[in-house]
Amino acid sequence: MRLSRYFLPVTKEPPADAQIVSHKLMLRAGLVRQTSAGIYAWLPMGHRVLRKIEQIVREEQDRTGAIEMLMPTIQSADYWRDTGRYDAYGPEMLRITDRQDRDLLYGPTNEDMLTAIFRNASNSYRDLPRILYHIQWKFRDEIRPRFGVMRGREFLMKDAYSFDLDEAGARVSYNRMFAAYLRTFARMGLRAIPMQADTGPIGGDLSHEFIILAPSGESEVFFHKSWEEARSAEDYAVDADDVEALQTFVDAMTADYAATDEKRDEAAEAELGDDLRRSRGIEVGHIFYFGDKYSKPLDFKLPGPDGDMVTPVGGSYGIGVSRLVGAIIEASHDDDGIVWPEPVAPFKVGLINMRVDDDACAAAADDLYAKLEAAGVEVLYDDRDERGGAKFATMDLIGLPWQLVIGPRGIKNGVVELKNRATGERDELSAEAALEKLA
Ligand code: ATP
Ligand code: MG
Repeated sequence: MRLSRYFLPVTKEPPADAQIVSHKLMLRAGLVRQTSAGIYAWLPMGHRVLRKIEQIVREEQDRTGAIEMLMPTIQSADYWRDTGRYDAYGPEMLRITDRQDRDLLYGPTNEDMLTAIFRNASNSYRDLPRILYHIQWKFRDEIRPRFGVMRGREFLMKDAYSFDLDEAGARVSYNRMFAAYLRTFARMGLRAIPMQADTGPIGGDLSHEFIILAPSGESEVFFHKSWEEARSAEDYAVDADDVEALQTFVDAMTADYAATDEKRDEAAEAELGDDLRRSRGIEVGHIFYFGDKYSKPLDFKLPGPDGDMVTPVGGSYGIGVSRLVGAIIEASHDDDGIVWPEPVAPFKVGLINMRVDDDACAAAADDLYAKLEAAGVEVLYDDRDERGGAKFATMDLIGLPWQLVIGPRGIKNGVVELKNRATGERDELSAEAALEKLA
């Protein structure tokens, strides 16, 4: 992509109403624009990041056997009346009336609708277990939308729903999601800590929030220092079809204390002593077992293996896809701007032509641009007639992992400069060597 033909409205000064660093940087780097309170337009650069994150989420859901579908944003209120949730949900639900005077709503979540859809199409225990998911916009009329996309009113969520014959089966589905979540966040360069969360009236231990540590986080969190160690997706490799291995994995990952404010355990913390850490955190995902909370009111029953009717049990599993864009920036930035982890970067390389008026420079930059594109490398080519300093500042702000700089002095000597945004390391090398390194 040539920057001269792109739409990237970057600004020097952060808008006054942005409080946290990710919100400021998202506005400055031209990722989003607010269109109403808590509602955002995703500009081209932000949209690319959102799609990258969405794709990682999708791949890890698919890998664990969840099945993708797509439900509408607008729901009939009847789905919610049937589960008894329509009145209970409260003012966060955006309620709409159509021209026939029918009650509709903009979905804040999909348990009610999907349980009804699944019930109507399932005939026996052979239709279980299943995990279905979609990645769709949600609306919650949050009382205090803030922090940009982190607490929006309209936001993109991946929500999955499991249906199982019994609690033992549901635990397997839960464990699959648990492992998939750890891998998902690790692939984005994030360390998400699974923390025990509220289970509501169901009780039990099958509710975890996945929390990213950040000073701007909305919740206070407490955890064993072992969670400070860096981990990669490989550390979370486990065969999702091996039920025992999966349980062993989840047990290991929950062995060390980690809890949010609401679930603090004083005895456990006292035992930890100096190993206890305290921080603030951002919730990027939540997995939850709710038993027959929806199947029961919807009278969802199936003939089980021995012919007796069984009420399936389920759980729901959310990931805040659009919130993750902000959360990743909170976790990865410096004074100059965003530092995108490569797997979610909008482009891999920023190619900078230092002197558009220099023929040799322009020819070399054009040539590299064509070759990078041909090699399938995502490259943003700054071919604008601007000062070098301004180009560097823009590249640092938008945070692409690599900057490839073509200048007149280098061209004379047959070299280009490759800068690593994260480490600041600069290398002089031939254009061919740079290509090879990036392709
Ligand atoms: P929170 O406690 O932050 O209000 P929640 O518990 O209501 O979130 P869930 O219903 O568990 O959220 O939704 C699943 C995921 O969706 C959350 O883990 C979070 O990442 C994301 N999410 C929830 N509310 C918002 C919002 N207003 N803006 C952006 N993302 C959100
Ligand atoms: Mg939650």
